[in-house]
Amino acid sequence: MNAEIISVGSELTGGAKLDTNSQWLSLELAEIGISVIAHTTIADDLAAMVNAFHMASIRSDIVLITGGLGPTLDDLTREAMAKFAGVELRMHPASLEHVQQMFARRNRPMPERNTMQAMFPAGSEPLPNPRGTAPGIWMEYPRPLHDTACKFAAMPGVPSEMKVMFRQQVVSRLDRGDKVIRRCRINCFGVGESQAEEILGDLTARGRDPDVGITVHEATITLRITAEGANADQCRDKIDKTRAAIVNRMGTLVFGEEDEEIEHAVVRLLHQRRASLSTAESGTGGLLAHRLSGVTGSETCYKGGVVVPTNAAKRELCYVEPEMLTKAGPISAEVAQALAEGCLKRFKTDFAIAVTEWQEFDPDDPLAPVPASFVALAHKGGHRVEQVQHFGDPAIAKSRTAKVALNLLRLHLIGG
Ligand code: AMP
Ligand code: MG
Repeated sequence: MNAEIISVGSELTGGAKLDTNSQWLSLELAEIGISVIAHTTIADDLAAMVNAFHMASIRSDIVLITGGLGPTLDDLTREAMAKFAGVELRMHPASLEHVQQMFARRNRPMPERNTMQAMFPAGSEPLPNPRGTAPGIWMEYPRPLHDTACKFAAMPGVPSEMKVMFRQQVVSRLDRGDKVIRRCRINCFGVGESQAEEILGDLTARGRDPDVGITVHEATITLRITAEGANADQCRDKIDKTRAAIVNRMGTLVFGEEDEEIEHAVVRLLHQRRASLSTAESGTGGLLAHRLSGVTGSETCYKGGVVVPTNAAKRELCYVEPEMLTKAGPISAEVAQALAEGCLKRFKTDFAIAVTEWQEFDPDDPLAPVPASFVALAHKGGHRVEQVQHFGDPAIAKSRTAKVALNLLRLHLIGG
């Protein structure tokens, strides 16, 4: 059984808005074992929509449509469905009443155009919309070359309305697939994408069961395990085995799962040790503080941070010697270490991490020298400094540097 998703709206094809509905619906369909073979995005254009519906009815058993159900002239989904099925639009009195009530409850007169929202292709069924005025449309289209009808569900474009309608009205009308799909994400940091692939070897081979895919976002490598099975237990079992194989090969590069970032791992490790942390940062401009304070419960271990873009701030807030600043310069291993040690003293914490600034760079100039920054970790027993080379996209330089600094502490805490 195949499904496909069609999102409708000129704001989507024009680039003003991103189609997030298709992504959400694909994940929901996977949960009930239905594979999605295509996403199509079309403008508010009648002919293009009729065309897309035809194409979809040929190759898919289920077609989910979102958008274009509003009352305005550019909302054409209901007309397109009627035209595609070769039927007329008919008034559905109960839906008209619902639309009228929606306006009455808001104390507003109902514009004439809204009666359009109670019109449905003959033979279709309205799908109630508890959150908005536009009901959805359920339509089964008999196909000349198939023995089963193609099932169409048109839902509102507004994501919150679409989600409620899908879960309350659409899911129960779909035949479930004959398999279950489960996913798991494992997050790693410290190597590049191709290096990770090399370490993982046959685990990422195409056609493997379960499938392991690699994606990278701001230097974090995510391994996505997708398991198919007859039931959820079978999927879980497959995922557990593959997870163990991944952890075995990637070792301490693995820091968390699902939505966990390095700061979550750091906070968890600090809590386990009942240890405290402070930060001093120049190049990352407060990103370390932002990330750490964003972790729930971090206030019991993250005691504070300072942003030190100038030499004066480095001297006054982290006690860096003026002489060192002139001699070694603000972008140096010495200053990174001095910032971390000064921070440790200022906040009286068990650990401190620090980041220096770096020279701006043009990633399109192959001859330009690769700039570097320095990150440092200080604790009562010593310190560690690491150099961060900046190549690639300058837009992610801050995020990547903050992660390198957090990872330095994470590795220390796990004894790596
Ligand atoms: P519509 O049902 O076409 O009137 O869409 C109503 C609003 O929902 C649009 O203005 C968008 O802001 C939003 N919307 C429509 N389609 C999508 C989509 N595929 N993904 C995310 N938002 C959408
Ligand atoms: Mg629209």
